[in-house]
Amino acid sequence: MRLPPFSNLLRTFHSFSYYARVRPSAQQSLSRNPSTLKSMSIIPFFGSLFGSSSNQPSTMSYPDQRSSDEWRAVLTKEQFRILREKGTEAPGSGKYDKFFSDAGVYTCAGCNTPLYKANHKFKSGCGWPAYFDSIPGAVTRHEDNTWGMARTEICCANCGGHLGHVFKGEGYATPTDERHCVNSISLNFSPEDKPAETK
Ligand SMILES: [Zn+2]
Repeated sequence: MRLPPFSNLLRTFHSFSYYARVRPSAQQSLSRNPSTLKSMSIIPFFGSLFGSSSNQPSTMSYPDQRSSDEWRAVLTKEQFRILREKGTEAPGSGKYDKFFSDAGVYTCAGCNTPLYKANHKFKSGCGWPAYFDSIPGAVTRHEDNTWGMARTEICCANCGGHLGHVFKGEGYATPTDERHCVNSISLNFSPEDKPAETK
């Protein structure tokens, strides 16, 4: 599936907002560093432009339109908290944080859509699984201005399940200079390579 033009537009705008490049270590220090928060005070402009934040249901419609009750029936409590309520697992706690494989795919724990290939994963040391790219069209991006930070939320393009955030320009030696910071609990790993089903 190719990204629709509107998504390309969003990505262009995101590139302007990437000056708030916040590594997890910096995020953790935000509460102790009011000057950092102050310097980010103009960031909500971008959020108001697009009107989405991780606290509000996305206006984007996804192919998988299951209701909250339907999701509760198939997800664990913790999966529901993270995938459907945009929670975050504790750093270093996820089963895929330090897991690496030469082959295979990571699929959405909600709807089983292939999201990342094993060879997209890299060692970031951030405490969550990190990928420098996703399977084309598998992940959507949204402005997230919660917690006084301008971040780009990433979701499964099929069910809208919350995956984590994407950060750009951090200087990792990867082909894209992007880090998809994903909750392990949002993912399942399959050792077999499957073609992307989102074409
Ligand atoms: Zn999904």
